[in-house]
Amino acid sequence: MNSGSDDRQFQSEWYRVSTRLKAEIGETAFENWVKPIRACDYKNSQVRLAVPSRFMRDWVAANYLDRLKELWAGENDRVRSVDLFIQPTLKSTDQNKDDNDFLSGQENVSRDISVEVNSSKTVSKPVLEARNRISAPLDVRFKFDQFVVGKPNEFAYAAARRVAEASSVSFNPLFLYGGVGLGKTHLMNAIAWEILERDASRTVMYLSAEKFMYQFVRALREQNTVDFKEQFRSVDVLMVDDVQFIGGRDATQEEFFHTFNALVDQGRQIILSADKSPSDLEGVEDRLKSRLNCGLVADIHATTYELRLAILEAKTEKMNLDPPHQVLEFLAHKITSNVRELEGALNRVAAHTQLVGRDLTLETTQEVLHDLLRANNRRVTIEEIQKRVAEHFNIRISDMHSARRARSVARPRQVAMYLAKQLTSRSLPEIGRKFGGRDHTTVMHAVKKVDELRDHDTIFAEDVELLRRMLEG
Ligand code: ADP
Ligand code: MG
Repeated sequence: MNSGSDDRQFQSEWYRVSTRLKAEIGETAFENWVKPIRACDYKNSQVRLAVPSRFMRDWVAANYLDRLKELWAGENDRVRSVDLFIQPTLKSTDQNKDDNDFLSGQENVSRDISVEVNSSKTVSKPVLEARNRISAPLDVRFKFDQFVVGKPNEFAYAAARRVAEASSVSFNPLFLYGGVGLGKTHLMNAIAWEILERDASRTVMYLSAEKFMYQFVRALREQNTVDFKEQFRSVDVLMVDDVQFIGGRDATQEEFFHTFNALVDQGRQIILSADKSPSDLEGVEDRLKSRLNCGLVADIHATTYELRLAILEAKTEKMNLDPPHQVLEFLAHKITSNVRELEGALNRVAAHTQLVGRDLTLETTQEVLHDLLRANNRRVTIEEIQKRVAEHFNIRISDMHSARRARSVARPRQVAMYLAKQLTSRSLPEIGRKFGGRDHTTVMHAVKKVDELRDHDTIFAEDVELLRRMLEG
């Protein structure tokens, strides 16, 4: 390093690179593998990183080095290689201190950074140049071709594609909403990439609602709101992620509303995401809600088993993994919360098997993920079972408790008892009590009967299996 400002720039690049990597690999992996790394110097187009042990060097080299290189090249195009060397005395506290320095001066530091164009394979130069005008960096993994489309997201996907490919503003705003980890940020990034790939001269601004608020508050403090407004009002496409955070903050909301109106009036495209529909946004004024409802509102639904399986297939192919299909089916069946968790689970299993040199099997998967699996094991109640089974066989819930013995109600009741035994930890007498005060021998008989029927009647067996899956999933 020849000067303090170069060193400062180098360290701020490292800060950004490692922060990006952290977002990709998660907190735990970051703490274990990246946090202990120290960015040492930059010479002759080579970045040198120090790690505390040989073991760490090998692990980081095998798992993160390529990505580190890509990310660093995205920050600084003169960087050609990233090298790891062992420095046993390295203390992770040094790193902590640097982190804190950066956090406190973060805004100042990042303002000095001139983010330069890299020569990454996947992104062309003009697109990268255009990207540099975007406030928040886009993620290269979040493109349309990496987005797996299925029933729950096909509408949102189609809407996103349409907006990205349209030569003029079609739906304004496009409002994407859905639960956490279902692909909203991925789709927004994909739209931005697509727009820039089609026309790199367009200005796309992508930022989180939190960042929007933060910048607005800072502008207020610095009495610089004119610049603030100009910055947003001169873009072709404005994307704000997670707008639910704007709710309740009146001044920011007001400003957002004006910016929004000004851009719409000028025929600029606006794309927003939130975890709720516009009408359900809390603390958001009615006039803003109705404005948000004016464009195209597209929701992403909870994942289905089929979509989860397709996503796992796509990801393992990309990772060059070829686990037994059973493993994927198991994960798709068990990790039902969202795609982020599903990805996390897959990465964890892959990293673990690689680290200890074991095959990726169903057994190792269960072992590695035991804590996660426990959390995902929903507790099914007997009431839920009765409701679902009654719906499925088209009988009244009250028939679960009634004394009626007609086959049309007795059989579903037996199925419900059977499932209660399989899916809950209730004892036979407890189950009996919940079914109109029946005796435990009645429940035992039901379990035996259903088992028998399953063996002989495949249609019945499928019915029971379907119910079990619905209740578990
Ligand atoms: P959200 O913004 O809705 O909370 P993200 O867009 O951050 O969710 O998605 C979480 C993770 O899941 C990301 O790594 C993303 O790439 C991945 N993901 C979500 N949906 C899909 C999909 N349909 N195909 C492939 N990856 C997906
Ligand atoms: Mg998001």
